[in-house]
Amino acid sequence: MQSFQPPRRILMGPGPSDVSPRVLAALARPTIGHLDPEFQKLMEEIKAAMSRLFNAPDHACVPLPAPGTAGMEAAIMNLLEPGDRAVIAINGAFGGRMADMADRAGAEVTKVEFEWGQPVDPVKVEEAMKGGPVKVLAFVHAETSTGARSDAAALCALARKYGALSVVDCVTSLGGIVVDVAAWDADVVYSGTQKCLSAPPGLSPIALSKRAQAAITGRKTKVRNWLLDFNLLMSYWGGEGGRTYHHTAPINALYGLHESLVALFEEGQQAVLVRHARTHESLAAGIEAAGLKFLVDEPHRLPQLNAVIVPDGVDEAAVRSYVLAKWDLELGAGLGPLKGKVWRIGLMGASATPWHVRLCLSALCEALEAQGFKTDAKAVLAAADAKLA
Ligand SMILES: *Cc1c(COP(=O)(O)O)cnc(C)c1O
Repeated sequence: MQSFQPPRRILMGPGPSDVSPRVLAALARPTIGHLDPEFQKLMEEIKAAMSRLFNAPDHACVPLPAPGTAGMEAAIMNLLEPGDRAVIAINGAFGGRMADMADRAGAEVTKVEFEWGQPVDPVKVEEAMKGGPVKVLAFVHAETSTGARSDAAALCALARKYGALSVVDCVTSLGGIVVDVAAWDADVVYSGTQKCLSAPPGLSPIALSKRAQAAITGRKTKVRNWLLDFNLLMSYWGGEGGRTYHHTAPINALYGLHESLVALFEEGQQAVLVRHARTHESLAAGIEAAGLKFLVDEPHRLPQLNAVIVPDGVDEAAVRSYVLAKWDLELGAGLGPLKGKVWRIGLMGASATPWHVRLCLSALCEALEAQGFKTDAKAVLAAADAKLA
């Protein structure tokens, strides 16, 4: 065997995003014990920073020791018991994954489906809420498979109106667009580290409301998975002192998350959101100047995930191979019904900079030219730059 040396890559797909040198440096600091008093201080700081970032002062906030999907699984498995009814909105790949998990939890699942690229329509969801008691209403805030943003405030309000607990997937939204758990009065909200937080994958920040915690404590049956059982988890991550062993926290990964949160608050939460919005506007101006179109209508577009329609006569995969080979640039492919039909361009976290936008547009124009699709690269860059002037 030999040491693995990753090639240089610029990450502008659906995640992971570029990880900044300071986060990489933090990951390489010496490993200490997970019950070391200094490590426990770090755990407390991370919990406090997460509650600030989610704006969830009354929620229990914990980073789960696995990627974003673990947050989803924890939310669904802890809240749902066999026979409970769950209404799940599906407007892309991740809503579908939630429905599968709820089914595995033994719940009675009502799926409310939307065309990929559309936001979740609260009116249609309300129709589904009317047919008897609902334990959980789950949806994806920022659907990474399509680049569509849904109205989290309206959907959480619907959950309250019908006495259901809301589960909000904020894997791609946290750190890229406004996530305001207190204002939404959301119950369970989870994210991942490798999207707009720009840390490596492997952790899932989650926040649980008092209502959600009471529902979990009051379960008639045990949570079906052990690692993510919130009752057990909190014996480890709960209040300061008196921690008992549950699992071994991924110590260095938590150094990385901590550093990415330090960087985020240094820049300022509002400034981070403005940076995402502005780089998106710049990219969008360039994309349109190149004669390309977005999948999602403007009001529902996510700044951090741009699904661009592959024009007729252009080979989707060949463009991605070209930019990877010539520019070390990773773009995302379409999933499910969008396979071969869109590119997914991420502007997440450390990858949301004017430099990334210019590099991506230059690479894309070159790759399109190589296939005979004419663009004016100079005009494309000028359109993008004009938005940042
Ligand atoms: C990436 C993503 C997930 C899954 O996260 P993993 O870290 O890949 O497990 C879930 N939901 C959304 C919306 C995502 O973008």
